[in-house]
Amino acid sequence: MATRSHPRALVAGGAGFLGSHLCERLLERGSEVICVDNFQTGAADNVQHLLAHPGFSLLAHDVTTPLEAEVDCIFNLACPASPLHYREDPVQTVRTSVIGTLNLLELARRGNARILQASTSEVYGDPAEHPQQEGYHGNVNPIGPRACYDEGKRCAETLCFDYHRQHGLRTKVARIFNTYGPRMRPDDGRVVSNFIVQALRGQPLTLYGDGAQTRSFCYVDDLIEGLLGLMDSPDDFCGPVNLGNPAEFTVGELAEQVLRLTGSSSGIRYLPLPEDDPVRRQPDIGLARNTLGWTPATPLEDGLKRTIAYFNQVLR
Ligand code: NAD
Ligand code: UDP
Repeated sequence: MATRSHPRALVAGGAGFLGSHLCERLLERGSEVICVDNFQTGAADNVQHLLAHPGFSLLAHDVTTPLEAEVDCIFNLACPASPLHYREDPVQTVRTSVIGTLNLLELARRGNARILQASTSEVYGDPAEHPQQEGYHGNVNPIGPRACYDEGKRCAETLCFDYHRQHGLRTKVARIFNTYGPRMRPDDGRVVSNFIVQALRGQPLTLYGDGAQTRSFCYVDDLIEGLLGLMDSPDDFCGPVNLGNPAEFTVGELAEQVLRLTGSSSGIRYLPLPEDDPVRRQPDIGLARNTLGWTPATPLEDGLKRTIAYFNQVLR
């Protein structure tokens, strides 16, 4: 059904991995979509199949520069998400999260639009509480190599809540946990795409540390439903709300699953653990369940099979 309350949507970062799936789903629901992207980590190819849709437009633009558009709702997904890429130009990463979010909040304020900020489990840093609930304030190293991303996203959350309190803006913050699926770049650098690409190419899987660190992996389709549910939630619900799949795996277990599902004879290559790499990560999704009625439906094995099928196509 069309989203009658907010038929015109702007998706910043819409040509990226999550953004391209979101644009697709919004069009399916009957929204018009303006996709805004500077193509730092995304690509026009990701939304090529949407260009012929009459409700879709693609705008090459960097959100660190103010923009004008008449829209009912804004999804801010603009920001490189892979540690490999956000560390390449850490100053630009901070600029994107802080100045980019500020520009989009101003756009929302001028047009009285709703705005959803794609925040991250990284705001919890290397968490001292497990699983992570939204009330936990986190354990982030403010001067480490991951800080450009973690602190940038924390400041973006602050801006959302200040715009809500100061200007009455309808803001919504989603704390997204590790999400994977088709349209990740083969050179994205995150663990699921790295392992699958390496397994399919017969290269050793690069395991950082001893593989005992954990992550909770959410399939992209589930995550997108969570974002839409949050945007559709009552005006007074700002979050923050955790969106992720609570099934927790060690990175070593993920490597084993990928090897088994690809039938690859690749071995494992142990590499040093990057600085400040969180030891454990698992969302408590009680709030999302209770307020949005949202729960992820795709087990890791099923999501991995679909992602492997995708990479099998693109690596040919
Ligand atoms: P991605 O790198 O594929 O997508 C980010 C998109 O933003 C890209 O298309 C990129 O070109 C664009 N972008 C970056 N800087 C920009 C700028 N200054 N102006 C305009 N566009 C810009 O990453 P993704 O996995 O799709 O993540 C999307 C969002 O979700 C990010 O904000 C990320 O922080 C957040 N998130 C993702 C995950 C995940 O596991 N995928 C987890 C937590 C949070
Ligand atoms: N990782 C790994 N090999 C890789 C890429 C990542 O072992 O080729 C590890 C990484 O050290 C981390 C986990 O997998 O412990 C998840 O890393 P990713 O970059 O996907 O996301 P994040 O660290 O931001 O959760």
